Amino acid sequence: MRIIDQIYIGGGFDRPHGSEEAPLFNPATEQQIGVVRLGDEEDVERAVAAAKRAFPAFSRTSKAERIDMLHRLNAAVSRRADELADAMREEYGAPQGFVKFAAPRAGSVFLDMAKTLETYEFRRRIGRAEVEMRPAGVAAAITPWNSNYGFICSKLATAVAAGATIVIKPSEMSAIQTQILTECLHDANLPAGVFNIVNGYGGVVGAALTSHRDIAKITFTGSTATGRAILQAASGAMKRVTLELGGKSPNIILDDADLDAAIPQALAAGFINSGQACIAGTRILAPADRLDEIQARLAKAIGAFKAGDPHDPEVRIGPMVSRKQWDRVQSYIRLGQEEGAKLLAGGEGRPEGVDRGWFVRPTLFSDVCNDMRIAREEIFGPVLCIIPYRDEKHAIEIANDTDYGLQAYVFSSDHKRARRVAEELEAGRVAINGAAHEPLAPFGGFKQSGIGREFGVFGLEAFLEPRTLLV
Ligand code: NDP
Repeated sequence: MRIIDQIYIGGGFDRPHGSEEAPLFNPATEQQIGVVRLGDEEDVERAVAAAKRAFPAFSRTSKAERIDMLHRLNAAVSRRADELADAMREEYGAPQGFVKFAAPRAGSVFLDMAKTLETYEFRRRIGRAEVEMRPAGVAAAITPWNSNYGFICSKLATAVAAGATIVIKPSEMSAIQTQILTECLHDANLPAGVFNIVNGYGGVVGAALTSHRDIAKITFTGSTATGRAILQAASGAMKRVTLELGGKSPNIILDDADLDAAIPQALAAGFINSGQACIAGTRILAPADRLDEIQARLAKAIGAFKAGDPHDPEVRIGPMVSRKQWDRVQSYIRLGQEEGAKLLAGGEGRPEGVDRGWFVRPTLFSDVCNDMRIAREEIFGPVLCIIPYRDEKHAIEIANDTDYGLQAYVFSSDHKRARRVAEELEAGRVAINGAAHEPLAPFGGFKQSGIGREFGVFGLEAFLEPRTLLV
């Protein structure tokens, strides 16, 4: 049983003033594996004060000093990559494939940001003006449970690169992962107060941060509903916000797609991170004249997406993070049937042979209309909809008929055609024939998928304020 009873303030571990506790579970076994003591408003005050004290000196550090810090952070996190991976498997239930991507990425995001910084010009001339990009001030980061390390590290890396100090509130459901990661970050020996980490509930610690007078910038990843609440809270003091929210990504299979390649990739994009991913391609758009063939192939290929014990290397879908998430996903599987969609694979309950753990059967719905709730709302589990379309124009229309706009996928054998379709899609990222990743390119959403962009220069500038000097 792990007892997490520390938060990180002003360069050291400290006991929270808050006394409330939350249980921690292994979602694959439903067993309690730990308990976390949560911070409160007073802990937020202390953390923000530490970040505020550190800001003047840190904001004046040179580019070379910050690059050096980013390299130290990378080294400190990479050193314990195996432990990070184990904790992610135990506390979150991430299967092998996702762990292999996520654990090394916790360290590599610091190198990506160091690379961005190397060529970034903080001062430039525009006509008669000298423009200086200055750190925005003390930042707050609020992160979810579906990729704890990735979100904490990428937001911290950006703050460090910008010369901003930061207070981070991770999801309390990830407290064991956060504890190991914080120990790594501590080992990088950054100046006291540059980063501070406070476990706590969103409604307590998160809310106190988003309305705090000394926070100038908020960076948030999570649900659109919470993003909306944060935007409102931030508006009082005109805080800068970056919001990376939900998605209902279209996965367009054009009628000329090579189905041998497209079908497994479309499923992989839909079931990424056990379906608990904002970028999951959850609406598979299939041409009506190839619908039967595509559905038959999808129903067959889904067999390769085994759900179960995350330690099993053949497992591609782990458990849902919590009982609450499991119930939520089950309720959507019920809802889909009530709405008139047909189950092509999966359904309610646990996968065959699994009698405990918050596992969901990988589920495919056919006969889905884009106005059904299962096609419009983010389910955040391994549940995909197949939606038929008449022609290319209709496919684009359905793809864009959503409140979201984070990511989209297009499969076609004709590269020019795929690009033409991609250009019509209202999404922050469009992936053609796969799900390639570019860590330096901007990431974020159109419409209700968010505000602003993360990563690379775009992410860095979201932590900076331009100041124009005219002499
Ligand atoms: P939330 O958006 O509620 O949680 C994300 C983070 O925000 C957590 O750290 C949470 O803290 C915090 N938070 C919650 N309320 C507030 C608030 N008022 N002010 C400041 N911070 C707050 O997501 P859930 O965990 O409830 O998941 C619900 C749904 O959200 C999922 O099913 C999925 O659809 C979507 N989601 C999307 C994610 C994405 O990557 N885009 C990530 C996670 C969820 P606490 O944990 O204490 O509530």
